[in-house]
Amino acid sequence: MLEKVKGFNGDRVIEEFEALTKEAERVQRETLQRILEENGAAEYLQNLGLGGKTDPDSFKACVPLVTHKDLEPYIQKIADGDALPILTGRPIKSISLSSGTTQGKPKLVPFNEELEQSTMEIYRTSFAFRNRAHPIGNGKALQFIYSSKQFRTKGGLLATTATTNVYLSQAYKNTMKDIQSQCCSPEEVIFSLDYNQSLYCHLLCGLICSEEVQFVFSTFAHSIVHAFRTFELVWEDLCCDIREGVLSSRITIPSIRSAVSKLLRPNPQLADTIYSKCVSLSSWYGVIPELWPNAKYVYGIMTGSMEPYLSKLRHYAANLPLMSADYGSSEGWIGANIDPEEPPESATFTILPNIGYFEFIPLKERGQEQKVENCASIIGHREPEPIGLTEVNVGEEYEVIITTFAGLYRYRLGDVVKIAGFHNSTPKLQFVHRRNLILTVNIDKNTEKDLQLAVEEASKLLAVEKVEVLDFTSHVDMSTDPGHYVIFWELSSNAREEVLSNCCDCLDRAFIDAGYVGSRKVRAIGPLELRIVNSGTFHKILEHYVSLGAALSQFKTPRCVGLSNCSVLQILNSSVLKSIFSNAYC
Ligand code: AMP
Repeated sequence: MLEKVKGFNGDRVIEEFEALTKEAERVQRETLQRILEENGAAEYLQNLGLGGKTDPDSFKACVPLVTHKDLEPYIQKIADGDALPILTGRPIKSISLSSGTTQGKPKLVPFNEELEQSTMEIYRTSFAFRNRAHPIGNGKALQFIYSSKQFRTKGGLLATTATTNVYLSQAYKNTMKDIQSQCCSPEEVIFSLDYNQSLYCHLLCGLICSEEVQFVFSTFAHSIVHAFRTFELVWEDLCCDIREGVLSSRITIPSIRSAVSKLLRPNPQLADTIYSKCVSLSSWYGVIPELWPNAKYVYGIMTGSMEPYLSKLRHYAANLPLMSADYGSSEGWIGANIDPEEPPESATFTILPNIGYFEFIPLKERGQEQKVENCASIIGHREPEPIGLTEVNVGEEYEVIITTFAGLYRYRLGDVVKIAGFHNSTPKLQFVHRRNLILTVNIDKNTEKDLQLAVEEASKLLAVEKVEVLDFTSHVDMSTDPGHYVIFWELSSNAREEVLSNCCDCLDRAFIDAGYVGSRKVRAIGPLELRIVNSGTFHKILEHYVSLGAALSQFKTPRCVGLSNCSVLQILNSSVLKSIFSNAYC
């Protein structure tokens, strides 16, 4: 029997989900029809000659596959205040800024009520399944969530990150209440523009209601790790605030001071308990269950570029289950994690066939596919045709194409997914990596995932020394002849020269792509270079992105920094403590 939460009926949500996923093909047809009917008046669709047809074949025949770049002029027109139906039938009232960390610069994408609704549907669906596995009681959630700058476009539309657009909505507030996920911190903390002050207050509010906290959350796992790394530095100040009932002078924003001060009373007993728990921990192992004894799990996106933070997260969470959250983007949601018991490494996302129309470009063998992509214009090679949601094959990889209620039609999201199986007739996806190649000098092709695996392998050599890689990124240095890969590492403490040299060799050998190995052997690519950067470098990168309007909630460390991203490259290069070249392939 499912736990019934007031205002939320998990059985019903699951029943509806089962019905939708049993008839995925029909639901997809109907969803496409609705999208095209609702938006038929949009200039973009009008120009494509659909002539009112809403079936998948006509749609595919008339509407081209696009990237964000193709839609930019339309989105810009909307942002500039053109009130005509441009991409959607009804006017777009707000714009979302994607985090920009994956692409280098933020992209503008339309946000509307339908996107808000699908966000709530995803939240409710995954909660229904999560709550069946680990029912939570009445209480609160320790959420590390942050809004970002909000500004008005030339045409007066609200522009901010997608998460902020969601947090601002009434639907979000209602849903959080229904699924018992209300944040411990007052709104002023979430909406402050100083994320350092917000983070301190999230921790403080979480400690004040430590008995009530049912789970710990952030959108992307990076924010949880970041929060607890900060906790290690500020815990004594937090205890002091709780003991005295006076908020630290580091909180200077009047609205946060006043909202948080209202929650704070002198509580020496709680301060003593927290203090003694903290001093008894060894290297902060298990700090989350120790301080939040009623927490049932830790929740957030832990897949893709978040995987490198898993080991630290496990360290802080000890035996508390880690549950990976859903799959989506500023452009639209894709799937919910309905198997919360799966470890994050094998988390899958079941597509909700009613929230958008989904297509998939089959990818052949990984290296081959990317080579083809690069040469397509030269030899006139055509990519395989996208296939429908129910036509995908288990075990194969695809690029995701979405058509949304918010005006994106056959939009290449840029993500590669693998089909892990089916739930009824709708596929379950595993996130593989962003499609763009990140490291290439010659005929070599390495993706974000390849880099992640190489770093994982090499960092095992550091673990023996009790040193961790706190964060990493890469760069292709073509200023040398031949060009070479540069990997930047920020470490938790110093490591011996000899160990770093072994790590560097290991990184070089861990790129097993045939193009790389072959080029290294014939010296068409130079020895890999490992640059160790000083402590706080990746924090500076985060601050740089936040200053551009990104929200900490959506932050993803860029895993490759190109020459065009000169500010980040400058931060990295000005922080190098030492540089080591690989001796592999000598
Ligand atoms: P944003 O630019 O903040 O909208 O980020 C969207 C991107 O984040 C997606 O296109 C994915 O590359 C990544 N992402 C979102 N959800 C997940 C997930 N559950 N697992 C892995 N990557 C994800």
